[in-house]
Amino acid sequence: MISNVEEVLLAEPRGFCAGVDRAIEIVERALVKFGAPIYVRHEIVHNTYVVNDLKAKGAIFIEDLADVPPGATLVFSAHGVSKAVRQEAARRGFQVFDATCPLVTKVHVEVAKLAREGYEFIMIGHKGHPEVEGTMGQLSDGIYLVEDIPDVARVQPRTDKLAVVTQTTLSVDDAAAILAEVKRLFPQVREPKKQDICYATQNRQDAVKVLAPAVDVVIVVGSPTSSNSSRLRELAERLGTEAHMVEGADDLQPAWFEGRRRVGLTAGASAPDVLVQAVITRLRELGALSIRKMDGVTEDVHFPLPRGLGDRSMSEVVSSRS
Ligand code: SF4
Repeated sequence: MISNVEEVLLAEPRGFCAGVDRAIEIVERALVKFGAPIYVRHEIVHNTYVVNDLKAKGAIFIEDLADVPPGATLVFSAHGVSKAVRQEAARRGFQVFDATCPLVTKVHVEVAKLAREGYEFIMIGHKGHPEVEGTMGQLSDGIYLVEDIPDVARVQPRTDKLAVVTQTTLSVDDAAAILAEVKRLFPQVREPKKQDICYATQNRQDAVKVLAPAVDVVIVVGSPTSSNSSRLRELAERLGTEAHMVEGADDLQPAWFEGRRRVGLTAGASAPDVLVQAVITRLRELGALSIRKMDGVTEDVHFPLPRGLGDRSMSEVVSSRS
């Protein structure tokens, strides 16, 4: 097999976002402060390496709160939870730390506020994704999921007061097309002041739009369960560049690089940099001589930790240059 890889171009930004960073830190700090085991509802973030690393440190991942013993410490994942899950955790008396990304919580707060004003909702998102279950589960009814354009016509709201919310990790372009259909069929719909797709999703997709046309093949580091990672791979392919998603360096197949001089590399918001570095090492073995960062947005976003887990430097700083 002949590999012609000469150069690796790195998308900027790529990898961990502030919400993922915070969620992992919450589990790690809980382990240090309270000792193992710490129970985590659902994968803390959708990345196999991260989950296995935390398992090795004493985290136990569960889906059903019935599997958590009385008196245990429980962490909600970055994707957020429904009201029912929150109430059940309180009823069972767990010590809870909430690692829901503050940008997901913002959507939950908006849904609750508008529901009190009599609104119903169209939620644009992927069925079965825990974030969608968590956001839809803020209400007992009156929130309708649409996954694509044809779904919009099937929505039958019971009121004219209709608002739209979206999953934070969607394809920006797909969400815009679905939103256009929502506005066409429901012209009175209320949109959020700032769209729910988060800064990290937007920035990583923008970076792939710069990267993909400049390379012969794109590698996305991420786990298949990761929505934002999957969207990066799809986006590169839509732009006409072959793209592959890998969990790590071992998944790279030399055949992908045959006759390809430039490789583009990015990573989903839940993929740690150690995996990206391992992929770079493997690409060097395949012949890459130069590793170059693309120009892109610099992110400077930090979220505070929940009370009871201590402070960290910059923890009160919440800012975005996106
Ligand atoms: S991808 Fe966005 S919404 Fe999800 S954890 Fe990261 S910053 Fe939060």
